[in-house]
Amino acid sequence: MDHALRRARAAARLAELGLDALLVTRLPNVRYLTGFTGSNGQLVLGRDGAILLTDGRYEAQAAEESPDLERRIYRDEAPPHLARALADLGAARVGFEREGLTYGGWQRLVEAAARMELVPAEPVVEPLRAVKDPEERARIERAQGATDEAFERVVLAGLREGVSERELALELEVAMRRAGAEDRGFDPIVAFGEHAAEPHHRPTDRPLRRGDVVKVDMGAAVDGYRSDMTRTVTFGEPPERLREIHGLVTRAQAAGIAAARPGAALREVDAAARSVIEEAGLGEAFPHGLGHGVGLEIHEAPFLRREAPAGEVLPEGAIVTIEPGVYVPGLGGVRIEDMVVVTADGPTVLGRAPRDLLDVAP
Ligand code: ZN
Ligand code: ZN
Repeated sequence: MDHALRRARAAARLAELGLDALLVTRLPNVRYLTGFTGSNGQLVLGRDGAILLTDGRYEAQAAEESPDLERRIYRDEAPPHLARALADLGAARVGFEREGLTYGGWQRLVEAAARMELVPAEPVVEPLRAVKDPEERARIERAQGATDEAFERVVLAGLREGVSERELALELEVAMRRAGAEDRGFDPIVAFGEHAAEPHHRPTDRPLRRGDVVKVDMGAAVDGYRSDMTRTVTFGEPPERLREIHGLVTRAQAAGIAAARPGAALREVDAAARSVIEEAGLGEAFPHGLGHGVGLEIHEAPFLRREAPAGEVLPEGAIVTIEPGVYVPGLGGVRIEDMVVVTADGPTVLGRAPRDLLDVAP
C-alpha cells in the first residue's frame, strides 16, 4: 500500500477546495494516509509536503510505520506544534476535519494558529477510503474468513440450550481470534427470541430456549480492516410468522445486492431492498439504512440510506454491507447482512456462511 500516493491524491483536492493545507485529525484518516497506527497522531497535509505529529510514546512506532514522512514528536499539548507545522508548510488557509475535533480542541487550535484562517473542510479522505485497493480488500476478506469460521463453529455447530447471549458473544470473539483475527471488528450483537426485535440489542444474561430465533451480528478485524455480517437462525421450531419474515428479508437482500453496481445512486440501492419490504406492508418495521461502507472503520462512507443526497453514487471498488431487517416487538426479528464488493462485473458477496433460516438445535 502506497501511502505517498494516497497523500498525493488527497493533496490534489486542496486547490479545488481553496485550501493551502488540511489538518487531518481523524485517526482512521491519519492511518490511511501514513500507516501510523498509534492512538494519538495528526497529519498536516500541504499541497506539496506533509508532516506527521505524535507524542513521545509513539516516537519509535511512528518511525517504523511511517519512515517516508517527516515526523515531529511533542511532549506537551499538540496545538502549538500543529500551528508551527502548518506555518512551516506555508499555509495561510487551513481546512480542518469537522468530525475530527472536539470543541475544546478547536478552541486551542484557534488560539495557537491565530494568524491562520481555519475553515471546516468537506470530507477529503473519506471519499478516497470508500474505494478499496486490492490489499485492503484482501484484509477485509481475511476478516470475513475469520467471521465465517467462528460463526460456523460457535453458532452452527456449537449452540446449546441455556447458553446466555453474553456467553455466546464472548465465544464468538474468542473463535474469531483463534481463526486469525487480531480483534473483533465491533461489539458482537447476540439476540435471542423477543430480543431479536431490537436492531442493535446489547447481549444480556438471557438463556437460549427452544423455539428461539437467534440473531447474530458479528465481525472481525485484520490489520485494522473490519468485517460485518449478520445471520438469523433458529434453535428449534420458530413461529411460522418469523419464517415468512425471513423469506421476505432474503428477497429484500437479494434485490439490494443486485442493485449494488458502480454508479448506482446510494438512495436507489436502499430503495431496491426497501421497496420489497414496503410492498409487504412492513416498511415501518425496517427502521434503519440498508448498509454502509466497511474498512478501517466499521461504519464508513458510502452510506446506503433513504436520505442520501440524490447525486451520491456507489463508486466501483467500494465494499458495502447490504443488511435489510424486519423487527416485530414481542415476536423477534430477522436481519441478513453481507458485505459486497462493487465491481463492473457485478456485485461480489464476501460472506460464505449460509443465509437460510437454519434450525441449529442439536
Ligand atoms: Zn453488522
Ligand atoms: Zn453493518
